[in-house]
Amino acid sequence: MEEEEMKRPCKAHVLVLPYPAQGHISPMLQFAKRLVSKGVRVTLATTVFVAKSMHAALNDSIGIETISDGFDEGGSAQAESIEAYLTSLQAVGSRTLAALIKKLDNSGDAIDAIIYDGFLSWALDVAKQFGKSGVAFYTQACAVNNVYYHAYQGLLPLPLSGTTISLPGLPPLEPAETPSFLYVLGSYPAFFNLIVNQFSNIDGADLVLYNSFYELEKEVVDYMAKLWPLKTVGPAIPSIYLDKRLQDDKDYGINLFRPDTESCLSWLNDKPINSVIYVSFGSMAELETSQMEELAWGLRNSNRHFLWVVRESETAKLPPRFAEQTRSGMGLLVPWGPQLEILAHGSTGCFVTHCGWNSTLEALSLGVPMVAMPQWTDQGTNAKFVEDVWGVGVRASKDEDGIIARGEIERCISEVMEGGKGKEIKRNAEKWRELAKETVDEGGNSDRNIDDFVRKLVSLT
Ligand code: UDP
Repeated sequence: MEEEEMKRPCKAHVLVLPYPAQGHISPMLQFAKRLVSKGVRVTLATTVFVAKSMHAALNDSIGIETISDGFDEGGSAQAESIEAYLTSLQAVGSRTLAALIKKLDNSGDAIDAIIYDGFLSWALDVAKQFGKSGVAFYTQACAVNNVYYHAYQGLLPLPLSGTTISLPGLPPLEPAETPSFLYVLGSYPAFFNLIVNQFSNIDGADLVLYNSFYELEKEVVDYMAKLWPLKTVGPAIPSIYLDKRLQDDKDYGINLFRPDTESCLSWLNDKPINSVIYVSFGSMAELETSQMEELAWGLRNSNRHFLWVVRESETAKLPPRFAEQTRSGMGLLVPWGPQLEILAHGSTGCFVTHCGWNSTLEALSLGVPMVAMPQWTDQGTNAKFVEDVWGVGVRASKDEDGIIARGEIERCISEVMEGGKGKEIKRNAEKWRELAKETVDEGGNSDRNIDDFVRKLVSLT
């Protein structure tokens, strides 16, 4: 079936444009692979800096082209502020995207549509200037975007404080369970504007896609689908971990950090089943030094094996000699790991996570219970769902200083690794793992949505 599809002439040519960060590139690239398997031709556009710094393992079924964010040598780290970076990304990005569309048009390889990251709403305006269809792709949860949408409409009293908010399709949310930009107003004004303004031109998008799946966010999907032509097409995770229908699809394919695969897997291989605590805070979160210290001692005191990803930029915050003392003992520290392989490994028993949306979907898809330690942006909302809606983990509570203390970390780890609650969490995790697999497998909800999308794409061209 798949092979037949592959042999057919291409149905359409789309340009996929992610925001230049790991958590955005991975799911959009993964979705691109699904499109290729259904006969669509895909070109991925990254920034020049990402193209220079990425470790790519892609076959030639997806073409790669570049646009510029104005910082070709260092990306966002080269900009003097987030605001300066985002301003340049929009200005230089729009100009270079227009040039890329023209180049492809003139080379006889014209694109029919742009699938743009919701964070890059300006790309829709560029697409329309060239008479192309524009499809928004959101790499955050529908629940999160529903909250942002209400903020965009001016329906939330910002900054949120004190009162619980009730929005259609969502459980009641405490302020700290909403995205952080809404209750710590002014903390990241440039990101706040970017995210809230995702909705400024959304009514002009031809389609709206989400890296989520219907079963996971039913109520909010039903609500939002009345506002826009919306489809959930996730989880966008390498096929080997779900339906296994895409050949050799074991990895996302583009890494901005180099994973320490060999040492992680050989270390995991001789650990007992379900015994290891895997700890990672994704590609961006920065922990307070005091939080890092509490986490270190919480892990050490848990008396369990732990595999902790501490990015190079975070290592100086570790307690003195913690790494050396740990090396030969119970734990392994690495600057970046092969997260999917770690989560899928039989020795991994739980995941201490910041609840980035990709990490959350990956843990759900691989049936790994979570200890949620959300840091900022959408993570607190994802953590709320992890604990209260999907029942696949527990949230660690902060003390009066805003820190999650070592004792609390130990308590949460015990709760998910053992006892009655742990068993229930494991059962729920298994249930969601099955649902995630079914939804992308042939005839599942996300699979049908992708088929519908491909049909619509053809009709739009
Ligand atoms: N990841 C990884 N190795 C690591 C840590 C993270 O491959 O050591 C991947 C993880 O699998 C996920 C992505 O990085 O796909 C992080 O995305 P997420 O949305 O969870 O968080 P963000 O980095 O955007 O905060």
